Amino acid sequence: MLNLDLQRFGVPFRRTSKTKKRMRRTHLKKEAGEVLKCSKCGAPIRPHRACTKCGNYKNKEVIKTDKEEA
Ligand SMILES: [Zn+2]
Repeated sequence: MLNLDLQRFGVPFRRTSKTKKRMRRTHLKKEAGEVLKCSKCGAPIRPHRACTKCGNYKNKEVIKTDKEEA
């Protein structure tokens, strides 16, 4: 067994209940990111990123894709 001196650090007075633990973790969820539409092909894209379908960013082709226009 671990030889810990319990007098040296704080020890929880009570076990945290399921409800208290879950209430605390309601703030830990991840927010969904913003999604825009590509001005060229209309595919869903992330802002400030080139379109993954047609490789366009601000109406300019910045990435060469296999298929020209989806
Ligand atoms: Zn596109």
